[in-house]
Amino acid sequence: MTDGRGDTMASEQQIAAEADWDRAPNILEGATELELDPHDCDLEYWLRNVAQGSLMGLVRGRRPTSKVPDVLRRDGPLRDSLMAEMAFRSLSEEAATKACALVTMAASDITQLEFYATQTLDEARHAQSFRCHLMDLGVPADQLVETMERVAGEDRDRILEPLWTWGLPAFDNTFINGVVIVTVLLEGVLAPTTELSERKWKPISEATADIERGACVDESRHLAAGSWFVRDHLARRDEAERQRVLELITEGRRRWEALPTGEILIKREQLFQRGMEENAALIGDYELAPGRRLIDTTVEERVGMAATWTIEVQDSRLRYMGLAEPPPAS
Ligand code: FE
Ligand code: FE
Repeated sequence: MTDGRGDTMASEQQIAAEADWDRAPNILEGATELELDPHDCDLEYWLRNVAQGSLMGLVRGRRPTSKVPDVLRRDGPLRDSLMAEMAFRSLSEEAATKACALVTMAASDITQLEFYATQTLDEARHAQSFRCHLMDLGVPADQLVETMERVAGEDRDRILEPLWTWGLPAFDNTFINGVVIVTVLLEGVLAPTTELSERKWKPISEATADIERGACVDESRHLAAGSWFVRDHLARRDEAERQRVLELITEGRRRWEALPTGEILIKREQLFQRGMEENAALIGDYELAPGRRLIDTTVEERVGMAATWTIEVQDSRLRYMGLAEPPPAS
């Protein structure tokens, strides 16, 4: 973003690049390449670089001056698509908030405790910014919760409920299990969808792009630090523990693949497709990926992109953790 926020911040203090709104890598670079030792991202790091850094001047996750186009306030497929996305993602972030609070509870040292305490707050902020973005689309403040329930309650029950049912016993009050479940299975799978969202809403709505950008900056940090914890844990343990963690990942992936996440994503992209075609002028020649205009893309292509990114992110994170790719879940 080139609104000068970066300049203002730089004059006041030096923000770590990976937490800087303007300089942070996109989620694919960040999630595949960024290395972050959680000893360097303690509570003080978070207060300085996130609370007083990337979040400076933002109100509920976005710049107060950034605009929402009229088309997103009128009934239509583009608005429906964004409503569905914000409602479901807000409910997912609520689940992530609770999961991270449990990981915090299971921490055995200050580094673990402080990192997951800050991630808990990050996820609560994401839930808030997605939820409150519905107000930008014209939903009254006192109807946010019931609107989310109406739009995405059923999807939450189909996706998040089974994950809790499996995840809570699998977590077993053990820090490293919680880190694996949150980092590999939740964030590693959801992050690439976040990247797709950041890219596709960018030419349409400044406010939406702000919210997506903010979430992406945080997710890269979560993935990097979570992977560090797993790598460090495995480096100190024997082969049997490595096998146990691999089995947890394989079982989690198997569960994940049985969920109707693809169906939900396709439904949302079909609405986006209709909305995009009705509002081609808004999108213009904007490119979703180098050489590929958003307006020329199809539902299948965008869903396929997110799926490819998911595999790239997961593979690179598992390699970093010292876990050869687990056998495909089938
Ligand atoms: Fe999040
Ligand atoms: Fe996260």
